[in-house]
Amino acid sequence: MEPLFMKPVFQEKIWGGSRLHSVFGFDLPSDKIGEDWAISAHPHGVSVIENGPFKGKTLAELWQDHQELFGHSDEPVFPLLIKILDAEDDLSVQVHPDDTYGLAHEGELGKTECWYIIDAEPGAEIIYGHHAQTKEELAEMIEAGRWDDLLTKVPVKKGDFFYVPSGTIHAIGKGIMILETQQSSDTTYRVYDYDRTDDQGQTRELHIQQSIDVTTIPARTPELSIREVKQGQSAVVTYLETPFFNVYEWEVRGKLSLAQKADYTLMTVIDGYGHLMIDGHSYELKMGTSCICQIRSRNGNWLVN
Ligand code: ZN
Repeated sequence: MEPLFMKPVFQEKIWGGSRLHSVFGFDLPSDKIGEDWAISAHPHGVSVIENGPFKGKTLAELWQDHQELFGHSDEPVFPLLIKILDAEDDLSVQVHPDDTYGLAHEGELGKTECWYIIDAEPGAEIIYGHHAQTKEELAEMIEAGRWDDLLTKVPVKKGDFFYVPSGTIHAIGKGIMILETQQSSDTTYRVYDYDRTDDQGQTRELHIQQSIDVTTIPARTPELSIREVKQGQSAVVTYLETPFFNVYEWEVRGKLSLAQKADYTLMTVIDGYGHLMIDGHSYELKMGTSCICQIRSRNGNWLVN
């Protein structure tokens, strides 16, 4: 089976910019593009297959009608969403529900996410966690607008990785580009938006009660056990293995040979140029290319070079 290559879906955001063009080479419909939904079956921006027998079909249709491509999963919806984000300005301070709350209140999955920092300007920061010790204290600090006391800021640089489970108060800061792996959900509870207004002088909606309901208190910063396995000049870095997703970085210098471990694997190229070899066929890879290698190849091995 051929990998399924995805056509990008661009989302305009008030905090977006044009680096998806200048860095990744995408043709953008505006200079306020915040997100490339690189691999998505979510109704707010669904990927269309660009190649092979399924060309022109959406990923959501394939999940519905061709479960054999995904190892006959029993999950009702394609569970993942991959994005590349360009934060020209600060994103709102936000929190996402878990599956139980999301399904009960929004009719969709919760959102656990994680971030690989593709690039960050000097001095760039994220918000990652908070200092409230009880629900009452969280509510009081939000009510009083004590943002500096409440929010935990963390400086970031290119190559950093963060796990952001549902219930974590977070925000991506300006000057940061991120590869995000997340559950397939578009439910965001906005805690604080820096009192910003749009062209029409409107502020964006806040969701204070839902935010207080779903925030983990006190905040917990997950321990990561990042490990690297060398293969010649190349390497595989394991960032995360969770019930939602496993995240690896393939650092390819020359070549890297991989055995597929899961029924399907999502891949996005964030740097460089090369080829993916599967079952004797070669597929061109460049920055921004995204695909799903959907079933075990005949000999169980891939080569990236
Ligand atoms: Zn988020």
